[in-house]
Amino acid sequence: MTTLQDCRALDARDPLRPLRDLFTLPAGVIYLDGNSLGPCPKATPARVAQAVQQEWGEGLIRSWNSAGWYDAPRRLGDKVAQLVGARAGEVVCTDSTSINLFKVLSAALSIVRADQPQRRVVISERTNFPTDLYIAEGLCKERGLELRLLDAEEIAGALGADTAVLMLTHVNYRTGAMHDMAAVTRRAHEAGALVVWDLCHSAGAVEVDLHAAGADFAIGCGYKYLNGGPGAPAFAWVHPRHADRFWQPLSGWWSHAAPFAFTPDYQPAPGIARYLCGTQPILSLTALECGLDTFLAAQPLGGMAALRRKSLALTDCFIALVEERCAGHGLGLATPREHALRGSQVCLTRDVGAYAIVQALIARGVIGDFRAGRPDILRFGFTPLYLGFEDCWNAVEHLRQVLESGEWGREEFNRQHAVT
Ligand SMILES: *Cc1c(COP(=O)(O)O)cnc(C)c1O
Repeated sequence: MTTLQDCRALDARDPLRPLRDLFTLPAGVIYLDGNSLGPCPKATPARVAQAVQQEWGEGLIRSWNSAGWYDAPRRLGDKVAQLVGARAGEVVCTDSTSINLFKVLSAALSIVRADQPQRRVVISERTNFPTDLYIAEGLCKERGLELRLLDAEEIAGALGADTAVLMLTHVNYRTGAMHDMAAVTRRAHEAGALVVWDLCHSAGAVEVDLHAAGADFAIGCGYKYLNGGPGAPAFAWVHPRHADRFWQPLSGWWSHAAPFAFTPDYQPAPGIARYLCGTQPILSLTALECGLDTFLAAQPLGGMAALRRKSLALTDCFIALVEERCAGHGLGLATPREHALRGSQVCLTRDVGAYAIVQALIARGVIGDFRAGRPDILRFGFTPLYLGFEDCWNAVEHLRQVLESGEWGREEFNRQHAVT
């Protein structure tokens, strides 16, 4: 049995504990939704205020040069690169995940089909995040291609002579199940296809090594584990072997080789800069940089390897506590127990009441979220930057009380909100 004292002892010897002080977390809240919207780093409000008051207010248009605005997508991209096994100069922070997916999937399709037009199928996973599937569906429709949706176990066998691109999310948003990036990439390459990886639930959450995996393209989110703020810019990575081979179709002036030459014809910038589109949201990039800097603060303490170790210890602890203390209440586990297959979240299932249980927990200050499906899911994200083992204990204690008291049956917890 895991005790509260065990949890406190684990916190006391956690070398990452000081990182918690980098964040503003409201009193009385246990925040288990950093996989949906990361919390606010303490540095962000003052830094954004400075960007508004000094850089914009005083510097005006001069700040594009003097305050580093123009370089921001690549400067921030270099910080993301350190978290995902990419190299400096290979990543840009820009646009949203959905838009970046459109750009890289377009590029992947054009590269494969330039000399193999018979490859006309995009393969993805049926349980992939909907925007990924919707973007792929729209693009396939426009190009007369086919989007084929499969269960995870069917994918390896389905890759073949007609496959152009395999598009997968590395860690599944609903279940927290993680693909073996290197093995899947190898199999896709053997079949002659390219792979697009969505790292929305991986960047800042698990160790990723894009180069070691031989990956082709990757995109990911800035407002989840990277703590960039609501609607923060996302990122895009393209392996250098592909970066100069194709113009992505949103070929706006920021992707031009010489944007300020104002020529009527388009010349793509070399490398990843051609994956930009138009003028960048500088205030949002400013906030994102504060989020990325919380990870750089973790580098001297062991970086992503240390964060991953703690993330697995936290999710192991939470699973054990739920099984020990909430047994008999109809909860199941959707997240893999095997470490190699687990992201940084724990998803519990329940046939009825999952939505209301999550609402009752939120009313008690334990913020997770609900994802509809069969079965419905109670989703808890674990972020080792600011969560501890006593937080796991307290969250499970609230869950136990919500289940034992039946308070989730109250009408107020069963009303649906627009955003779940
Ligand atoms: C969060 C998430 C997105 C979000 O896309 P937006 O363009 O930011 O709305 C996309 N894909 C996956 C897998 C996600 O988890």
